[in-house]
Amino acid sequence: MAEYDVDLFVIGAGSGGTRAARIASGHGARVMIAEADRIGGTCVIRGCVPKKLFVYASRFMDDFEDAAGFGWTLPEKPVFDWPTLRDAVANEVTRLSGLYRKGLDGAKVEVREERAVIEDAHTIRLETSGQKVTARHILVATGGWPSFDPPIPGGELGISSNEVFHLPALPKRMLVVGGGYIALEFASLFARLGVAVTVLHRGDNILRGFDEDVRTRLRDALKEAGIAFRLGCTIDRIEQLPDGARRAHCATGAPIDADVVLVATGRRPNTKGLGLAKAGVELGPLGEILVDAASASNVPSIHAVGDVTNRVNLTPVAIREGHAFADSTFGGRNWTVDHGMIASAVFTTPEVGTVGLSETQAVAAGHEVRVFESGFRPMKATISGRHERTYMKLVVDAKTDKVIGVHILGHDAGEIVQSVAIAVTMGATKADFDRTVALHPSAAEELVTMRTPRNS
Ligand code: NDP
Repeated sequence: MAEYDVDLFVIGAGSGGTRAARIASGHGARVMIAEADRIGGTCVIRGCVPKKLFVYASRFMDDFEDAAGFGWTLPEKPVFDWPTLRDAVANEVTRLSGLYRKGLDGAKVEVREERAVIEDAHTIRLETSGQKVTARHILVATGGWPSFDPPIPGGELGISSNEVFHLPALPKRMLVVGGGYIALEFASLFARLGVAVTVLHRGDNILRGFDEDVRTRLRDALKEAGIAFRLGCTIDRIEQLPDGARRAHCATGAPIDADVVLVATGRRPNTKGLGLAKAGVELGPLGEILVDAASASNVPSIHAVGDVTNRVNLTPVAIREGHAFADSTFGGRNWTVDHGMIASAVFTTPEVGTVGLSETQAVAAGHEVRVFESGFRPMKATISGRHERTYMKLVVDAKTDKVIGVHILGHDAGEIVQSVAIAVTMGATKADFDRTVALHPSAAEELVTMRTPRNS
């Protein structure tokens, strides 16, 4: 008789949990995974994937307009149908969730589609069936959940990014609360779909933590796209008007009326009611599971990966953490994830792509910096007549000549930064960038043609 029912029990079949389960099983472990919602987790079901499809939809608006300058005449004014997009995206999500399930089945991972709670360091209870399972190792990969903290009166009249994918109709007016990734991505895409969007944010600028030059330029571009901003402003309460619309009252200034209030004020680790306290697992102030570099909690048999640990809350990071855990625990290959140099994008239009340190962060970290920047009108905008600018910035350590930050605002910024992140991760110097021959005509060639540092 085996000492435990399984070698690994994974709670949460999102990006991190699924990867860990499949890899562990591949190493010969007996693995069971439980998911209380749909297989696939936040990214596939209500995050990155459906959001990016919405972003694609929103950008057709620009293409229709730009086409005129290139000689195209559309027979009629394009009309957008929200239910068609919403349902097509929902179907794609269902397809992907099915593929995740197939992948788990194919890897011989036992799947339980019900909520699991931890009874003790080696025991899981499945809530619906009541089944108890003992496991040598438990991996918590339950992700995060939208939060509005502290709650405000009428907060329940708002929706989160979970619900935004299923709106019965496209609203005429939308108020978006928050100034981070989710707030700006949805503000940007809904504005392009024809919604009158207002962003209300407590800070004096959007995207705290990003490079200042990018923050300001993105805000200006979004304003130009028709988004209204109420900055330096917190929301006090939301009420429902007789016609069903919402009215948001702010600490300063006039109230704002909207058909939908999207609250995007951050996410919290999903640890409530999981039995972690009973098992003695230490949590941080936001409820995150405190883990070491190997994703181990203070209880030796319990590990955690992904957003539930609130380290770097990005899908590819969760996947790596899950993979590293499985290799290290079951595959005899110890490795950990380097959280230091991770590229990310904000899928607004224009898009933000970034890797490494912002100028401010570099200075604060003690680097003597040289900054190279380029702002230009993209080639396509010359004939289309669209008023837009692309911005690129390199932050270089003056002593070592290493490029320690790349920040781009413009078309395909995410795609460009993904490639340049390889060079930056390898420790490329500005001289390496300079000796790279430009690919012409492209926007990304600017990255290798900037020669004069700012203020020199
Ligand atoms: P973010 O942390 O990015 O943004 C939260 C925003 O809400 C900030 O502007 C914050 O302001 C504001 N805020 C927080 N608390 C309050 C409050 N009580 N009252 C008013 N405003 C508040 O979180 P998101 O929800 O946008 O996204 C969650 C995470 O998901 C991100 O950190 C990111 O890691 C991930 N994500 C990644 C995406 C991508 O890679 N493209 C896309 C979407 C999400 P302040 O700046 O002042 O703190």
